[in-house]
Amino acid sequence: MAVPISQMWTVATYVLKQRVRGRERYPLVLMLEPLFRCNLACAGCGKIQYPAHILKHELTPEECFRAVDECGAPMVSIPGGEPLMHPQIVQIVEGLIARKKYIYLCTNALLLKEKIGLFKPSKYLTFSVHLDGQREHHDLSVCREGGYDQAVAGIREAVARGFRVTTNTTLFDGADPNSVRAFFDEVMSFGVEGMVLSPGYTYDKAPDQKHFLGRARSRRLFRAILSNRRKEWKFNMSPLFLEFLMGKRDYQCTPWGSPAFNIFGWQKPCYLLQDGYADTYRELVETTDWSHYGTESGNPKCANCMVSCGYEPSTVQHGFTSLSGFWGMVKASLSSAYKDRGALDLLNQPLEHSRPPLVQIASSPSNELEGSHV
Ligand code: SF4
Ligand code: SF4
Repeated sequence: MAVPISQMWTVATYVLKQRVRGRERYPLVLMLEPLFRCNLACAGCGKIQYPAHILKHELTPEECFRAVDECGAPMVSIPGGEPLMHPQIVQIVEGLIARKKYIYLCTNALLLKEKIGLFKPSKYLTFSVHLDGQREHHDLSVCREGGYDQAVAGIREAVARGFRVTTNTTLFDGADPNSVRAFFDEVMSFGVEGMVLSPGYTYDKAPDQKHFLGRARSRRLFRAILSNRRKEWKFNMSPLFLEFLMGKRDYQCTPWGSPAFNIFGWQKPCYLLQDGYADTYRELVETTDWSHYGTESGNPKCANCMVSCGYEPSTVQHGFTSLSGFWGMVKASLSSAYKDRGALDLLNQPLEHSRPPLVQIASSPSNELEGSHV
């Protein structure tokens, strides 16, 4: 596992404290979106579809700090838009480091080489670079020729300067598992600390069997990709979440674990869906009808969802609050090869069909939306 011990310790003690206090719902990672503007225009991105006056708007450092202080999550992920386009991003990052928050600054890295000198390496700061696969696939995914090379140049510069760097990859069930495995080899050769994966979110308006097949296909894909692992591969995420993706475990969604805060407020119920906003994290937790969300709820918007912002908090809580979860994490750390002959056969099968490279969003960007570099 690639997550440093100090970070794991911070998260473990935080989770245990919440348990001792009897808190049923609490945040683990704040998804802080300081702006929706971006210097890319990926097909299917819901963020950049906002009208111009919204795209011009951004959170001030003080608004960011208020949200961080109120919710108290030990980790802060800063997706976008493109956070490096925020004129006060350095101030925001420094304020979070002063609060001892573990920050994942999610970037497409087009500006990383240019701006890296503004930041100081810290154990609290990780650049999480959005790469959706090998060169051709990534460039197609972000609709920018040369996007992959620019991102890799940014990664190399940040690694050379001593920063923590991870990659952040969204995968769909039509992805080529062999290409993804070759991509992992490439990424690890850049010297990154680890990789972060999430399945893409899809929502078909007319739910039918395909929804459930969709989940099954995702598990099949991740079984093919993540079984028979090379020892060089490191993942900067919960090993139980990876096992969930491979179909070895089941969890229920805990979206309050990764709440999203942006210029509109606290987004209900999660980073992916927009069913209104709350003024505070507390209000979000207390006024959202949580029974309406998650795969078990019957809500068609949730039927196909396996994304990290909904399910990784569930795995972290399981790992740090139960013997079975803790043992599962220990086992995964001691033996991470996941030998599986059936998965090798999957690698030799022809691709079934191709899925859209980014997210599939509803026709109205104001209803369900997301960016890909979560
Ligand atoms: S998906 Fe991410 S990188 Fe692409 S346009 Fe949207 S915010 Fe920018
Ligand atoms: S299942 Fe997915 S879309 Fe539904 S609330 Fe959870 S994270 Fe959000």
